[in-house]
Amino acid sequence: MQKLQNYINGELVPPVSGQYIDNYDPAIGEVYSLIPDSGEADVAQAVEAAQAAFEGWANTPAEQRSRIMLRVSELIEQNLDRLAKAESVDNGKPVSLATKVDIPRAAKNFRFYATALVHFASEAHAMENSAINYTLRHPLGVVGCISPWNLPLYLFTWKIAPAIAAGNCVVAKPSEITPMTAYLLSEICQQAGLPKGVLNIIHGYGGSAGSAIVNHPKVKAISFTGGTKTGELIAREAAPKFKKLSLELGGKNPNIIFADCNYEEMMETTLRSSFANQGQICLCGSRVFVERPLYEKFKTDFVQRVNEMIIGDPEAATTRIGAVVSEPHMNKVLSYIELAQQEGGTILTGGNRRKLSGRCENGYFIEPTVIEGLSYDCRTNQEEIFGPVVTIMPFDTEEEVLKYANSVQYGLSSTLWTENLSRATRMAHQIEAGIVWVNCWLLRDLRTPFGGVKASGVGREGGFDALEFFTEPKNVCIKMY
Ligand code: NAD
Repeated sequence: MQKLQNYINGELVPPVSGQYIDNYDPAIGEVYSLIPDSGEADVAQAVEAAQAAFEGWANTPAEQRSRIMLRVSELIEQNLDRLAKAESVDNGKPVSLATKVDIPRAAKNFRFYATALVHFASEAHAMENSAINYTLRHPLGVVGCISPWNLPLYLFTWKIAPAIAAGNCVVAKPSEITPMTAYLLSEICQQAGLPKGVLNIIHGYGGSAGSAIVNHPKVKAISFTGGTKTGELIAREAAPKFKKLSLELGGKNPNIIFADCNYEEMMETTLRSSFANQGQICLCGSRVFVERPLYEKFKTDFVQRVNEMIIGDPEAATTRIGAVVSEPHMNKVLSYIELAQQEGGTILTGGNRRKLSGRCENGYFIEPTVIEGLSYDCRTNQEEIFGPVVTIMPFDTEEEVLKYANSVQYGLSSTLWTENLSRATRMAHQIEAGIVWVNCWLLRDLRTPFGGVKASGVGREGGFDALEFFTEPKNVCIKMY
């Protein structure tokens, strides 16, 4: 069985403990590879390598850093099929989705920051006839990047690329549930000629390897994407050590549909925003609010279209719904479907584990599920489920739906469907979320600030925001005369 290795100081090495963790293919429910069970000792080696590489990397001319990062991007593109297949096997997502979305975006992340770094400039502030201030932006040194399992290579590279673009050296940890493409990225970095120690990848559990990164005194900043509870724990550990923190956490996003929307476009997109990646995208709209005059028509058509979605082997080109990521996660999602029924909800379609025949008979598949009849403030409508489950609910007024939308502890993204521009802008101003999509979903311009409010996180990724996070400003004030 394949044993993955850590990537430290440019080399692929086994964990110090010699211990490995089972890695499952969720579509077949079987262990297919082993990953290093790393801890403090591995992280210490990685930090040492990163520290040793830092001065050289920070002083490498921007154009040269850019060229190496572009090479990584090209190699990701050249390995598209291999990486997409690996992502699909590791995560359960349809290979078609990984081919269209995950892997191209990982290449784009490297390309975007390879070019951003040569355009990143600092500010100067002239004081009337007396002084000039200029602001230097120094890289921080060694930084930690920790990512989740839902969009493995996509989110891993979204952190690593700006960190190294800004001149830092990185100790990164992918999710122990989906480590494979991060491992393949180590091979790509070797081929691309990324100097040793600039990127180090440690595999293992959050509580051991992840926590060792967060707590290492030489790690100056942590960029974390994952669950809100983990974010809270990391904040508690890192804050007294005065580390910079960027936290991208959970969501419970509203999808608000007004009767005047472009119906066909809304329907097609709502199917995606509800069930893409088996609903395991932090930006999925899991609470669908529909203006009452449209509610019955929407319900009938939506349920019919959901019933047509093909649940199947992630390798098949026709599959729209693949496996959820793990058995514990499947059980968690199913327990929320159970809870929804206890809370008085009616299941309009789905609601069960789907047993497939053949190769995937033991895989972790859940039917796309639509539930109605719940109050906006019940647990099902307040807690993040992170699976192929949405609730639908009618509303009458803007005030009412805003109250529903903003009632949750989260505030990551939101979607509005209306042809009325005044209403769209009015609502966009009042929704408590870091991102508002109007008549679209997951339309991403990588220059824009990305992140959430309330329990969905602290700070923004994307564009120059990420380069600012990964640098420390220093103002120099020169008296002129
Ligand atoms: P998770 O919090 O369980 O794990 C995320 C990462 O943190 C993993 O690599 C894990 O090993 C590590 N980790 C766990 N405990 C740790 C600790 N004590 N110290 C350091 N690291 C630790 O999250 P998950 O289940 O992998 O991912 C799903 C969650 O991620 C959902 O809540 C989802 O909404 C969220 N998410 C948010 C965004 C966003 O951009 N806001 C994007 C994707 C996913």
